[in-house]
Amino acid sequence: MAIQHHLSDELLLDYATGALAEGWSIAVASHLALCPACRRRLHVMEAAGGELVADEAVAAGGDDDAWARISARLASSGHAYDTALAPSPAPDRARHASAPVSLPEPLRSYLGGDLADLKWKALGRGAFHIPIPVGDGETMVRLLKIPAGKPVPEHSHGGRELTLVLEGSFIDGDTLYGRGDVEEADADLTHQPVATAGRDCICLAVTDAPLKFRSWLLRLVQPMLGI
Ligand SMILES: [Zn+2]
Repeated sequence: MAIQHHLSDELLLDYATGALAEGWSIAVASHLALCPACRRRLHVMEAAGGELVADEAVAAGGDDDAWARISARLASSGHAYDTALAPSPAPDRARHASAPVSLPEPLRSYLGGDLADLKWKALGRGAFHIPIPVGDGETMVRLLKIPAGKPVPEHSHGGRELTLVLEGSFIDGDTLYGRGDVEEADADLTHQPVATAGRDCICLAVTDAPLKFRSWLLRLVQPMLGI
């Protein structure tokens, strides 16, 4: 089964322009390592960005036209990944239960090893986690291991949440997320993901750290205070 749930245009664009904090970037880069389709979309965005910068019409005030062209280009090429036009990606053997599962490179560097080497910390109810320290002051990043058939432990998140499946799968509502799939949730979504029976689910979870909101406000008032 190929990856079904990809990065949103917004996330990919923020990643391409360097606007994402480190925590979100780890999740995006890890999905990109697993997903040739999103790597192609990123290349299209970057090419479009280069075109925009080079386009004199933009400097002359023709932003609308330029943006319309870029949107059209993204719509025609960037989203072709799920059609027959897209080249067949290399088979992802790690999606099969019998094959060994490896961490995508960005994560392996952060964790200092592959899945088999990790030291899990108990979260209760059979779940485990490994916090991944990041220095962005904005996000909380961790690996979660959810026992087969069990719900993700209760956790509060007042903001955005990004979950990338690395091993096994989980079901949220009617939707199945397997290896490589990304779920983006915002503060409004009430959800209770449950690991699929038969195999533990390991995912990377990135959330807004609670302090984020305070620093967000601080950042908002900074210009007004002139600091
Ligand atoms: Zn993708």
